[in-house]
Amino acid sequence: MPRLVRHSTGPGETVGLATLGDHGTEACFRVVSRPPSAPTPYVPGPHLTAARLRRVPDFQAPRGTRDLLPAERAAFRRLETVATDLARRYGYREIETPLFEQTAVFERGVGEVTDVVEKELFRLAPRNEESESWALRPEPTAGIVRAYIQHGMQTLPQPVKLTMTGPMFRYDRPQAGRYREFWQFDVEAIGDPGPAIDAELIELALRFYREVGLADVEVRLNSIGDAACRPAYVEELTAYYREHLDRLPPVERDRLERNVLRLLDSKDPAMVELNAGAPKITDRLCDACAEHFAGVRAHLEALGITYALDPGLVRGLDYYTRTAFEFFPRAGGGQQSALGGGGRYDGLVELLGGRPTPGIGFGVGLDRVVLALAAQGVSPPNDPGLVAVVVGADPAASAERLRVATDLRGAGLAVRADLGHRKLGRQLEAASKEGAHFAIILGDELADGQVQLKDLQAGTQRLVGIEDLERELSRATSSHRHG
Ligand code: AMP
Repeated sequence: MPRLVRHSTGPGETVGLATLGDHGTEACFRVVSRPPSAPTPYVPGPHLTAARLRRVPDFQAPRGTRDLLPAERAAFRRLETVATDLARRYGYREIETPLFEQTAVFERGVGEVTDVVEKELFRLAPRNEESESWALRPEPTAGIVRAYIQHGMQTLPQPVKLTMTGPMFRYDRPQAGRYREFWQFDVEAIGDPGPAIDAELIELALRFYREVGLADVEVRLNSIGDAACRPAYVEELTAYYREHLDRLPPVERDRLERNVLRLLDSKDPAMVELNAGAPKITDRLCDACAEHFAGVRAHLEALGITYALDPGLVRGLDYYTRTAFEFFPRAGGGQQSALGGGGRYDGLVELLGGRPTPGIGFGVGLDRVVLALAAQGVSPPNDPGLVAVVVGADPAASAERLRVATDLRGAGLAVRADLGHRKLGRQLEAASKEGAHFAIILGDELADGQVQLKDLQAGTQRLVGIEDLERELSRATSSHRHG
């Protein structure tokens, strides 16, 4: 009996008509166009045609978020492993802060007149009895600095070097490489005024990209001054844009009076020429900032790191001072392709209520790195998978299979027991499909303490004493791993 399993919600969209298949899981469907606000046409029977699709589920992951299914999760896990190992090698220790904070941490830290706070903050509706306002973290630095102050880390030897990897949330318009939940590998060094550590951090990030397989990553560098020199520059820049008000698109006109620096990294094509003629902050740095910037560059050069100076790179958040940098794949890709970015935030600790303390950090966008690796044809890591599946000639004897598997797992081996009641042939088939190296077949020989060990990859089989199983499997897996 044909049944409509999904129809569109918006006027002018296409409408899917479907019949449930015999098993209720597959459906035939036909797509028809619907003029705006016309009633849903439903034409069952002979008109339903060829295309087959799975039944649309009632619930889906929220827009802009996605499930990381095992293959993609494995790709993320590999990046996390490289990240954690690398950060440890450079003396950074892991920290974990809550996924949400008091909204004021972001409003004060990131800045109220920034896209991240104004438009993209996921604010949590407070429960009645709570008076605090909370928001999901859009970036990690403000929360880490809040923790630094709260736990009196100023009294530790400085700098305090911290790293964190986890999800961030921004209520952004979803598109390729831009999600509402995305993952960052973050590194922060709090309590060192630089400039040497600025170069060390940039080198760390570049090494991360290299070690995961992205060789050709470019670093773009700028200095955005500090409280001594930036105000005069901001005034000069405002005056420059005011002179050209008629050439500013409406969005930029609005930004002009609120956060003029953002005009410099505008993506609007109408701004390209105007921005090229804009005064450059690097020509107007105070002596201390100029000296610092020269120091960063000298240290990068000492490490043999090439970089591109980018006077339009201002970063989106208010807390940055002096050094600002971003990472891009050299093979193009535009603004959306930034693989990471960071900078110095010498005023942030004080802004959040601590003693004046310099700091610098960066965040690498892991989702973008996974996409860039896929675009370069770098294949995801091999899942080490199962060493063996314990199967049996007597489908009912699941307790024996479970016991053997449990002993082997206790010895650290990845072993599944076939706990269903299907025939041996089907159990073996499933073990092969899963990519297990061995099947351990329990049969009559078990009475003599023996099992059949079937090498599913080589297609060979032999009798093995049950007490020798662990040694046999361990030997085979280590030679498999290193071979
Ligand atoms: P930001 O501090 O905004 O420059 O973010 C640091 C890095 O996180 C960026 O360079 C991107 O790689 C990544 N990133 C930022 N926003 C998103 C997003 N909405 N979706 C995916 N990745 C993002």
